[in-house]
Amino acid sequence: MAAVDTVVLADWVSRFGAAVTEKRDWLTELDSAIGDADHGANMARGMSAVGEKLSAGTPGTVDELLKTVGMTLVSSVGGASGPLYGTFFLRMGMAAGPVADLDGPALAGALRAGLDGIVARGKAEAGDKTMFDAMAPAVDAMDAALAAGASVPDAAKAAADAATAGRDATLPLVARKGRASYLGERSAGHLDPGAASTAILFDTLAAAVA
Ligand code: ADP
Ligand code: MG
Ligand code: MG
Repeated sequence: MAAVDTVVLADWVSRFGAAVTEKRDWLTELDSAIGDADHGANMARGMSAVGEKLSAGTPGTVDELLKTVGMTLVSSVGGASGPLYGTFFLRMGMAAGPVADLDGPALAGALRAGLDGIVARGKAEAGDKTMFDAMAPAVDAMDAALAAGASVPDAAKAAADAATAGRDATLPLVARKGRASYLGERSAGHLDPGAASTAILFDTLAAAVA
């Protein structure tokens, strides 16, 4: 298998940008039910700024690439998702370090560091009905698949499936973090928008490393 290098990671970021732009109306519709109807716009705007930034050329090291993505998201998205996804990519980059590519354990470790960054920033716990509920199972599934001897593409596919299941499991939950928590019990019966974009994040990772 080819290593997960900066070209593959830039392809992931570009696929994620294209997918959130394509699904922008759906993400906004989810956020209109339990938030302020801007999640699709926030993600599309942030990732379009990232695309512009990277159009100058792909940075040579994994940390440079991921830090550029993270900083651009933090500075271009006003909503909660900007700092949270921004921190995710920044922490991923810091964990990866100035390397040219990542093997399976290094990729999984970087994703885990990104997840930890989201928790440090937003204090979400399992079942709070946030992006954490899609991301934590995805990162766990990647670790478990690699430990069982799966290839990176297969482990990424397992992570994507777990993220989608985690997204779907947010449907009945009552939100305890973010804007949706203002609705209390009325937040139940809707998918969490951030969990929906996180499922897209892992789908596009699986596609990029396949
Ligand atoms: P805003 O709520 O500021 O309008 P977005 O609509 O772009 O921002 O993003 C909302 C998403 O952010 C939620 O669906 C949820 O997944 C995520 N989120 C909000 N607060 C937190 C938090 N404290 N920890 C983790 N994720 C959070
Ligand atoms: Mg919103
Ligand atoms: Mg908002």
